[in-house]
Amino acid sequence: MTYQSITRIDLRRLILALTIASALISLANTFYASHQVQRQHLIENTLESNHAYATKLAASTEDFISGVQQQLKFSAAVIAANFQNKTILESETKRLRLQTDSFNSVMVINRYAEVLATSPDTLQIKGLTLETPGAIEAIKNKKPSISQPYVSTAGNLLIFISHPIILESGEYAGAVGGTIYLKQASVLNRLLGKHYYNDGSYIYVADQNKRIIYHPDIDRVGIIADDNSVIDNFSKQKSGKAQTKNSQGTEMLAGYALVPTTGWGIVAQRPKSATLAALDSLMLEVISKTLPIALLSLLMIWWCAKLISNPLRKLADSADAMDKPETEKNIQDVKSWYFESSELKRVMLTGIGILHKNINKLKDDVHTDPLTGLGNRRSMDLALSSWKATKTSFSVLAIDIDFFKHVNDTFGHDVGDIVLQKLAQHMRDVSRADDVICRIGGEEFLMLLPSTNAQIAAQVAERLRALVESSAFDAAGKITISLGVANWPDSSNEIVTVLKAADEMLYKAKKSGRNRVEVLS
Ligand code: GH3
Ligand code: MG
Ligand code: MG
Repeated sequence: MTYQSITRIDLRRLILALTIASALISLANTFYASHQVQRQHLIENTLESNHAYATKLAASTEDFISGVQQQLKFSAAVIAANFQNKTILESETKRLRLQTDSFNSVMVINRYAEVLATSPDTLQIKGLTLETPGAIEAIKNKKPSISQPYVSTAGNLLIFISHPIILESGEYAGAVGGTIYLKQASVLNRLLGKHYYNDGSYIYVADQNKRIIYHPDIDRVGIIADDNSVIDNFSKQKSGKAQTKNSQGTEMLAGYALVPTTGWGIVAQRPKSATLAALDSLMLEVISKTLPIALLSLLMIWWCAKLISNPLRKLADSADAMDKPETEKNIQDVKSWYFESSELKRVMLTGIGILHKNINKLKDDVHTDPLTGLGNRRSMDLALSSWKATKTSFSVLAIDIDFFKHVNDTFGHDVGDIVLQKLAQHMRDVSRADDVICRIGGEEFLMLLPSTNAQIAAQVAERLRALVESSAFDAAGKITISLGVANWPDSSNEIVTVLKAADEMLYKAKKSGRNRVEVLS
């Protein structure tokens, strides 16, 4: 492994890392965006439905109040006609309380706020002169009125709704009125108290002075809520919605509406946390719907990354081993299916072709004698070691030109070179394909004849000698050669000794008069 492949990240990992990173970022973005949108949507929805509910309750409360005033008006007329008849006063108060079921108690007072008749009797205030704000207000106004909440003589927090009694003579005689208890079961509970849920939603009502007149937590009734932003809003708008905090510090989504006649504000509200509880399951649903596709696309990206990087990876691996013989085939096998990789492949194949050609040429050069094109000492060693390994017997012909110095001296070195080349051609002419011919010195040659005994080798030597003798060597004219022949393993088991023997035979031929063949006998 090279330095670079250790330290550098590969293309496939790079593509994967990039795409996974961008996929994760866009997924996270999707989740965040849909979380925000859903959250806003849930909040808006709750605000809207609370607003609608508060508006509906305000309308029914308004209806209820005008109904109650209608009933009181009717009773006032009945009482005015029979003002002196105590029995009718009693029966009318009783009828009003029991028949309408709107009041906790009903009473008739005269113009001095003295109680003339009550229902129920258990109140025991008949004959008393009331000093409660409701009674005083009623006789002072002398017109239909709805009191502020106050604590009654009997100790109840209540509101008093009354209608004046005007006699036929037009004289003001007093008022008939009913109370609605705020801290006990009353028509308000029946009207507003249905809105109880497990999730902490509730309704409350405040009057014009911000005093709470209805609340599911009875301890809050009667309290003035002057730090409540929703109640503050009543003075500005008749209805609306708001995000607020209740007295416990819980964040609330509130809808509110005003009851026109009384100026009461009705608030329907739900804890924000209850609304947002649905968000988790919504988000889980989003995730469960997104995740399989996301995983599938990641898988596809992984596969595509592999497909894109594979050709380059294989080419890169091959680039690491350009000198190996199997590399060319490996490169050819690379499926370069897109432009860049196929261009790289083409260039690499061209490059590797040139490289191999040069390597082969270098290999040849190493084993070749440049003047004659024959083998050199290296190619001789190669052949000898191969035959030794395969136990292939061979004969050696040691060849030397006679009086070659004379040729050089007479005709020049160039002519001498041509003689060497021509002699090389003659040696090729008498040899077989498997024979190895080497130039091992200036004008000294060896012919190695595999699977050839000394006798046959002597015949080849004689044929070459005769061919040279009978040939014309251009400017040099006639030349002759001397040859020595030996055989492995016949001459010796040691190859070096066999070569030496052939040399000795050559020397013997020179001594015996040249232009002849000597064989080790
Ligand atoms: P002998 O018959 O005893 O072999 O006599 P010779 O003159 O051939 O003697 P020797 O073999 O010792 O001579 C070698 C000569 O070969 C010396 C040199 O001038 C010549 N020679 C060696 N290499 C080359 C070569 O590459 N080109 C040429 N033209 N001559 C060479
Ligand atoms: Mg020589
Ligand atoms: Mg010679």
